[in-house]
Amino acid sequence: METKGTLFDDAMRRLVGAMKYTGFGDEIALRIGTPKSCLVISVPVRRDDGTLDFYTGYRVRHDDTRGPTKGGLRYHPSVSLDEVKSLAFWMTFKCAVVGVPFGGAKGGISVNPKELSPMELERLSRGYIRLVADFIGPDTDIPAPDMYTNERIMGWMMDEYSTIRRQHVPAVITGKPVSMGGSVGRTDATGRGAYYCIRELARKQGLDPATTTVAIQGFGNAGQHVARLLHKDGYRIVAVSDSQGAIYSPGGFDIPSLVRIKEETRRVQAVYCEGALCRAVEATNLSNQELLELDVDILIPAALENQITADNAPRIKARHVVEVANGPTTSEADGILAANGIEVVPDILANAGGVTVSYFEWLQNRSGQYWELQEVHRKLQATMAREFEQVYDLSREIGTDLRTAAYVLAVRRIGETMEAKGTSSYFANHKAH
Ligand code: NAD
Repeated sequence: METKGTLFDDAMRRLVGAMKYTGFGDEIALRIGTPKSCLVISVPVRRDDGTLDFYTGYRVRHDDTRGPTKGGLRYHPSVSLDEVKSLAFWMTFKCAVVGVPFGGAKGGISVNPKELSPMELERLSRGYIRLVADFIGPDTDIPAPDMYTNERIMGWMMDEYSTIRRQHVPAVITGKPVSMGGSVGRTDATGRGAYYCIRELARKQGLDPATTTVAIQGFGNAGQHVARLLHKDGYRIVAVSDSQGAIYSPGGFDIPSLVRIKEETRRVQAVYCEGALCRAVEATNLSNQELLELDVDILIPAALENQITADNAPRIKARHVVEVANGPTTSEADGILAANGIEVVPDILANAGGVTVSYFEWLQNRSGQYWELQEVHRKLQATMAREFEQVYDLSREIGTDLRTAAYVLAVRRIGETMEAKGTSSYFANHKAH
């Protein structure tokens, strides 16, 4: 299978790399690598000043072999069909790795949401749903939040879809406010899932939180929650960043204070809070690139894709990389990190806590029975620990890095279902008489 230069082609390289460990033929690779459908739309938005703008939106359903497709919606100026296709591809593998009965999808709008008023944002979100209403549904395709979308936006979207269908359909979208049928424990699920992976990694490799340093790129939903949970366990978070830059303090940051100040000022600043009193603390300002190259035990990219590339991979000094963002490492960089002994917990495993609790939310919406927070945490922890173990053991068994093992595990699960429906070898050998 030929691969060229786009993000999707790079994503496909992981599939090609994994296929040789699965025993499946070319047909399975072809089917898993081919997106099912791609929708491109123009969303009209009446601006507050009366003018009309159009924003390009996308929804891609990559593969529904294992169930309805599932995947987030992203609002960002760089959203493109290539990016959405890649994210939908990764979702397919992520759902299979954690064993939830979904296929993969993704969507997004090419927009800078920071330039819209709250009412314009609501009109954009509802307009998007009006255009994709026939493409999504609780048994076909179920969106969720991603970068620069949140539970309020998911609530507007569920409300719009229910209006169109003339019935209450909470299971059409996950990551909703709890008061609108969301699940408790969804907000921090991605960060918490990554935290459970790090706990398993620490157990396997004898890492002591008190002497383990961590740098986190991206201090949004996913980044903040993994930081908070690691900090609570005594890990030293020495660097964090957002789109405006990074801060570094070798002694480690007080994460609850950083979260509070980020909420108030919308940027990361080094502070220490006692009660309501906050004061600035010593910290060095770094660029996001410098953060990635810090000498730390664990590096957590939790922002955008393509952050660790063939250019900077030789300078990465972290012992472990835990990918909370989707696609932060290119396939070329994989080999460089592996050659330098850096173990990568791949995105399709490390950030799968979000889709796992989305699945719990969907189950609750469909049954009408709602769970306690402890139950969500217990089930999430059990899923992440079980699948981390599977991936870890498989990587040791077949002699690969964790990413290849995660892809092999996912391909085995998806391929098994495809084989059950019949592949070329079955049809060639069972001719009609
Ligand atoms: P978010 O919008 O809450 O936060 C994004 C953060 O990244 C912000 O702090 C922003 O300032 C920062 N950022 C943006 N550009 C940056 C840059 N160039 N350098 C450094 N930081 C930058 O988004 P999120 O939901 O936390 O998602 C972050 C990543 O995690 C994305 O790759 C997303 O696909 C992935 N992810 C999120 C979820 C989820 O449930 N939220 C689930 C799975 C994967």
